[in-house]
Amino acid sequence: MEKLLIVGGGMAAGSLISNLVKNGYQGKVTLLSEEAYLPYQRPPLSKSYITDEKRPENILIKKESFYEDNNVTVQLETVVTSIDPIRAEVDTNRGQTFQYDKLVIATGSTLRKLSVDGCDMPGVCYLRGASCADAIKERLLKARDVVIIGGGFIGLEFAGTAIKNGSNVTVIDSGERLLSRVISDEIASYIQKEFERQGVTFLLSNTIKSFGGQRRVEYISCEPGGEVKADLVVVGIGAEPADQLAASAKIRCQNGIVVDSYCETSQPNIYALGDCVSQFNIPSQKWMRLESVHNALEQAKTVSSVLCGKPAAQQTNPWFWSDQLDMKIKIVGASTSFKQFYLHGAADGSGFSHVYIDEGKIVSVHCVNDQKTFLKARKLLELGPVSEERLKELIEG
Ligand SMILES: Cc1cc2nc3c(=O)[nH]c(=O)nc-3n(C[C@H](O)[C@H](O)[C@H](O)COP(=O)(O)OP(=O)(O)OC[C@H]3O[C@@H](n4cnc5c(N)ncnc54)[C@H](O)[C@@H]3O)c2cc1C
Repeated sequence: MEKLLIVGGGMAAGSLISNLVKNGYQGKVTLLSEEAYLPYQRPPLSKSYITDEKRPENILIKKESFYEDNNVTVQLETVVTSIDPIRAEVDTNRGQTFQYDKLVIATGSTLRKLSVDGCDMPGVCYLRGASCADAIKERLLKARDVVIIGGGFIGLEFAGTAIKNGSNVTVIDSGERLLSRVISDEIASYIQKEFERQGVTFLLSNTIKSFGGQRRVEYISCEPGGEVKADLVVVGIGAEPADQLAASAKIRCQNGIVVDSYCETSQPNIYALGDCVSQFNIPSQKWMRLESVHNALEQAKTVSSVLCGKPAAQQTNPWFWSDQLDMKIKIVGASTSFKQFYLHGAADGSGFSHVYIDEGKIVSVHCVNDQKTFLKARKLLELGPVSEERLKELIEG
């Protein structure tokens, strides 16, 4: 029987296993995961998980019985320390060696960390997994002054959660504006205003100099903002692909593990998927490393089809969502370069979208509380060049 080994037990791995079961995979599946929990959903961690009485058991992709019933062996709290593609085996931090016929790497991403004075003080937290979220949840209950470093999606989602908790919330970012790599100036400034209306303070174009306090963090020094009071700090300054394990095994990596459209790496019988992967996205015509649920789920379907000898579905345009305060933000397409945009709706809370156009072709659609346009958007991206009149008909019709 074919031995399939999966390294990393996050969203991509969990989804791969459920697809394999659905597709009737005949081999023996073993999952090795660093975490203490079965694969779970990460998006709630910056949102409802913090405010609700949720535990990791409530956000599992599949319950324990699913793995037992389908003869999937799961070994938690196990770090894979090396891969030997010639001998087709991996070693773990528990001194074990596992052999494989097929290997799937789903190691996700690693958080970028701050390295300034006091950055290791108690009260300075990062948000990646359920254990970090549990620690933040506990501190948030007592926190008066919450500071979030990084005005990206995860930082802003958590800012929305913290302000609902009744804390004073400050977001510090080194950029001149929020979400600079992913969203237009107009939408970013709309989002900022919505947060400010709820009482969130923004210190943009600021650099973190140090953290200070007696036994735990009490303030942050930043420039030019000066000292900001803080009894809880959440740092969200982005992540890097967790591709070192693959790179050490001489698997080709470049901003992530390089895979083809079947998620196969440069080494035979080794596949990779999820946040750790760099893949050429055919609809967008560019290499991408995506940190999104949609990407993890799509690649899980692809790997499952390949392993089960079934035809893999065609790639789709990437999409991403983020829930902040009462805003449901959805982005389809990955282009940040465009010549013009078309506005649908009004930026007044009732819902609106921006349709970005480059050389007559729709390259990306950003929606705020506008599910109707979002549903159309995925089809719009498949169109060739369209006239402004036709676009209006398609969106408003
Ligand atoms: C707080 C938060 C909120 C998010 N919100 C959204 C959202 O609203 N919308 C959206 O589209 N996306 C969101 N994302 C992104 C989304 O969750 C990720 O893109 C998705 O989890 C990627 O799945 P993955 O399996 O590739 O990585 P992960 O889910 O990160 O899993 C990787 C796993 O591999 C393990 N691992 C790493 N190295 C080893 C090793 N050597 N041995 C064993 N195990 C190892 C890690 O411990 C981890 O458990 C969010 C992410 C976070 C952290």
